[in-house]
Amino acid sequence: MSIIHPLPSDVIALIAAGEVIDSLTAVIRELVENAIDAEANRIVISIYPELWKVKIADNGRGMDLEDLRLCVQPHTTSKIVDRDDLWKITSLGFRGEALHSISQLANLEISSRQGENIGWKVHYQEGKVIEEKPIAIAQGTIILVSNLFGNCPVRRKGLPSVSQQLKTIQSLIYQMALCHPEITWLVFNQDKPWFNISGSDSPKAIIPQLIKSVSETDLQEIILSIPSPDKEDHISQLNLVVGLPDRCFRYRLDWVKIAVNGRRVNCPELEQIILSGLSQTLPRDHFPLAFLHLKTTPAEIDWNRHPAKTEIYLHSLSFWQEQVKLAIEALLKLTPESLSKDYHNQRVNMVLKVAENEQGYAVDKAIVPEINSSRSTVSLLPLKAVAQVLNMYIVAEHPQGIWLIEQHIAHERVLYEQIVDRWQLVPLSSPIVLDKLTDYQVDQLIKIGIEIDTFGEKTHIARNAPELLAKREDCQQALLELSLGGDLQTAQVATACRSAIRNGTLLSLEEMQLLIDQWKLTRNPRTCPHGRPIFLALEESSLSRFFRRNWVIGKSHGLLLS
Ligand code: ADP
Ligand code: MG
Repeated sequence: MSIIHPLPSDVIALIAAGEVIDSLTAVIRELVENAIDAEANRIVISIYPELWKVKIADNGRGMDLEDLRLCVQPHTTSKIVDRDDLWKITSLGFRGEALHSISQLANLEISSRQGENIGWKVHYQEGKVIEEKPIAIAQGTIILVSNLFGNCPVRRKGLPSVSQQLKTIQSLIYQMALCHPEITWLVFNQDKPWFNISGSDSPKAIIPQLIKSVSETDLQEIILSIPSPDKEDHISQLNLVVGLPDRCFRYRLDWVKIAVNGRRVNCPELEQIILSGLSQTLPRDHFPLAFLHLKTTPAEIDWNRHPAKTEIYLHSLSFWQEQVKLAIEALLKLTPESLSKDYHNQRVNMVLKVAENEQGYAVDKAIVPEINSSRSTVSLLPLKAVAQVLNMYIVAEHPQGIWLIEQHIAHERVLYEQIVDRWQLVPLSSPIVLDKLTDYQVDQLIKIGIEIDTFGEKTHIARNAPELLAKREDCQQALLELSLGGDLQTAQVATACRSAIRNGTLLSLEEMQLLIDQWKLTRNPRTCPHGRPIFLALEESSLSRFFRRNWVIGKSHGLLLS
């Protein structure tokens, strides 16, 4: 039975944005969106850029013959019926214009089979059916578009080079794959395999396929189910994947991506929340990697920020901002779930390898059994300080192994978060004289709130200082350091760094335990505000492998036990 129908004229008037088939990329975007709307989970794309041709095959719902006849008519769609539906759209398309436009601009051939029906291949020219024939085809749809802009060659001019177009097509497919991780993609360029992406239940498995230097263990994912702000009985889903700051970063701000209801969008207000949630967790000039997918009611979203639906407004923006903030905090906490054991094993194995090499002690891999990675999850929170090594590392015992925590940066993280939460300038009991300050330095100090009086020509007096520095003997040097530049955040990092326990300081067990307990509770326990990793977990499984505890007694001693 046909499901496609023409839209009423009042709806056409409301949505008339004009379909933009201005390139091969636009054709691919429209056809892929149709395949996704048809619930395909396998999409095969064959591109022939020099021939202005593309073929897209999907295993989605398919169309029957009646729909195949209707689909190229202007404003015909199966996705909405009347104007009320416009506020409930959950599909990517709804205007019913793309196939119509494509059939006007190219040769179009659609083969499709729906359910138990027989399959049909229909050939269109300028929006009209010119041939129909039954064919044997699996459920789904194959659309062949060729000789695009053949009747309108001027449109071919002015398009970017083929290599540039291919780049855009690749990034379009990457974005779609990220937003629809369940889909497997096979992409061919001139009949040669170009790239493919295996489907999965999570974008966490997709990202490493798009960025080769990232592995799944570098990423942490959280999925929150939240009652929708506009509709209590509807549950929205917030899915956030973040590259863990102690092991994953970008050199440009190019990978903080947001999707809403299956479509990549720009939403600077949410991007900002992600960036500030991860600020001061990475080294200078390093940027986070994050992907946020919000699935909520269509009524929450206003697509009218940008005609190409790439920028949106969210009606309950502050609600979502708060949720994203909470999600990041939960992701970065050191909980059993958030610690990837595989990753720590990899790191520890590297450490152990170095140790082995230094001893000239070769391991015969054949006799070392593989580690069983499916160990039960044990809480990582009970960390007990047991010793200090080199007056620098705290050794902490945990039911699953040993952790080494660098005391200075762990304390720096604690102090930094305290300072950010409560930045206070307190009056100095005796003002501090600062000699030979340049005008720049004076401005810099004033900028962060220090009260400065001029005293003679080149002498200044500071009357207050950040609380943590005020009582320190080196307060004068600290103020000079703060006068050298940077914004308030830089000043806070510098203050935390100067005030933190130095490496080389002897600590009692109680002091170490107190520090561990405070550090565990910080928002970003993985890295210090400069982005350096704070701890190394030596897991018992790695140690037991190193000490060959898995050897079978007897066999390993050359005894043959029957
Ligand atoms: P829209 O996507 O806005 O509805 P299109 O012109 O892109 O408009 O497509 C028209 C109709 O053709 C769709 O509503 C859908 O019913 C049908 N259609 C298009 N492509 C496919 C496909 N790959 N699988 C199943 N149905 C499709
Ligand atoms: Mg469409």
